[in-house]
This record gives sequence, C-alpha cells and structure tokens, in this order.
Amino acid sequence: MIGVVGGSWFSFVGGLLMMASCGTRDVSSGDDFAGARAAMVAEQLAGRGVRDESVLAAMRVVPRHRLVPDDVRSYAYADSPLPIGWGQTISQPYIVALMTELARVTKGARVLEVGTGSGYQAAVLAEMGARVFSIEIVEPLALRAQADLAGLGYSHVSVRAGDGYLGWPEEAPFDVILVTAGATHVPQPLLDQLKPGGRMVIPVGETAEVQALRLIVKSAEGDMEERDVLPVRFVPLTGERAERKNEAQDATEK
Ligand code: SAM
Repeated sequence: MIGVVGGSWFSFVGGLLMMASCGTRDVSSGDDFAGARAAMVAEQLAGRGVRDESVLAAMRVVPRHRLVPDDVRSYAYADSPLPIGWGQTISQPYIVALMTELARVTKGARVLEVGTGSGYQAAVLAEMGARVFSIEIVEPLALRAQADLAGLGYSHVSVRAGDGYLGWPEEAPFDVILVTAGATHVPQPLLDQLKPGGRMVIPVGETAEVQALRLIVKSAEGDMEERDVLPVRFVPLTGERAERKNEAQDATEK
C-alpha cells in the first residue's frame, strides 16, 4: 500500500507509517515554519512524484500551521493526518497534493469541496486561483474554517455548514469536485453537478477501514470514466442521505 489518509492520529503515534488521511493574503506573518513547509514539499510531495508545479507552488505558500489547532501546531508539516477536533482530521499533505493534482485545477475553475474540515484543502485550491465552494457538516468546524480562511485573506472561498452529499445546486455546475470524506458510494447529486469535461476525486469504499481514491471524469456527452488510483483511509462521509442510502444497500444485499 502506498499510503493511507485521514487515519487516526493515535495510529500515527503508534507507528503506522505512510498514512494516507484570492485576494490580498496575509500568509507569511510570524511564519517560523517556512523551512518545515519547504521540506514537506520537497520530501513528501515532489519526492513521492507530485509533479504539478501549480500544486507544489501553492503548498509552498499555504500556512498549514495556521489552520490546525494549537495543540498540534508543531506537527503541522508532519507526514500525517492530524486531529482538528470533533473527531475529524486534516488530511496528510501528500494526499491533499495528490487529490489536487488529479483534479487538474486551473485558475478560475469553479471547485466544490465536500468536507471543509480545517480549511487547508480549500486554501490550497484558492491559492491556485480557483473559486472554491466548500461544505462542512460539523457546524463549529465550518465556522472556524470560514474565520481562519478569511483571516488569511482567502476571499475566493465560500464555506457553508450542511450536508455535502447534496452538493451546492445554486452554484453548480462545477469544473472540479473534491470529496474529502470516505463514501460507500458516489452521491448522484455530485455527479449531476459536475460539468461535462469535469473531474471528481472521491474516496469510495464499503468499509470505514479502507477506500479507493477514485478519479471520475465526465465526458462531453455526460458519460463517466472511472479509475481507482490508490488505497486510502478517510473519516466517513456522514449525514442522513449518505447513511440512508447505505442502509438501503445493506438491506438489498442481505
Ligand atoms: N479537507 C479537510 C481539510 O483540508 O482539513 C479535511 C477533511 S476531513 C478528512 C473530512 C471532513 O468531512 C470532516 O470535517 C467531516 O466532518 C466532513 N464531512 C463528513 N461528512 C460530510 C458531509 N456529508 N458533508 C460535508 N462534510 C462532511
């Protein structure tokens, strides 16, 4: 297995290696972490084969340490997911980079993120010049991410508290959809809200233990082409819609 993301901080501490979970900006003030960030990009990202220079450039700039809670700040650039409260995690830097690279984000692209968490993935997308719409089901996380992103000057990010299973119909269609929580199936509303030619990256798996990081490309005719890229481990996609569909699937399978 190349990597697993979103896995628990405790399993990291226990030694599980290789876990795989704009406007005017004020991102550099008081930055004692510039060296750690540069090393993260060189070793964890470029060193593992991330080639998209726009992704590497964005991750050289976004202050990950300002989007994580104080008690884990000194680990902000570690090769690991980290706890961010409410039982949730910020994904491992490599997985953020890989998902962003697979999505082929261009300047001005309209991007939907499901699972705002800390706001870090959204900040990376905004740093690349995307117009970002991000939904988080845990309201306090959504509020905190929104405030932190605004504090860093990422004005092209809109955060909403709610169930991302349903997407953001008022702002659709999207060039890119990134789902940063593990789903048992691909939500139909998200497929519907993807533009022809658009790309979706989503962890999909039947168990909470492991998912496949799936790339879905919608053709001009609306057909879906899918490829599983890597085994990963994300916290689950929750919410009534995701859970109701799972129960219906379980009942059919019995
Ligand atoms: N992208 C985040 C970041 O950069 O910090 C990390 C995301 S974390 C691995 C997954 C997030 O998805 C959690 O914050 C969780 O609360 C959220 N989530 C789970 N189910 C969701 C749903 N149905 N709609 C929106 N957010 C959801």
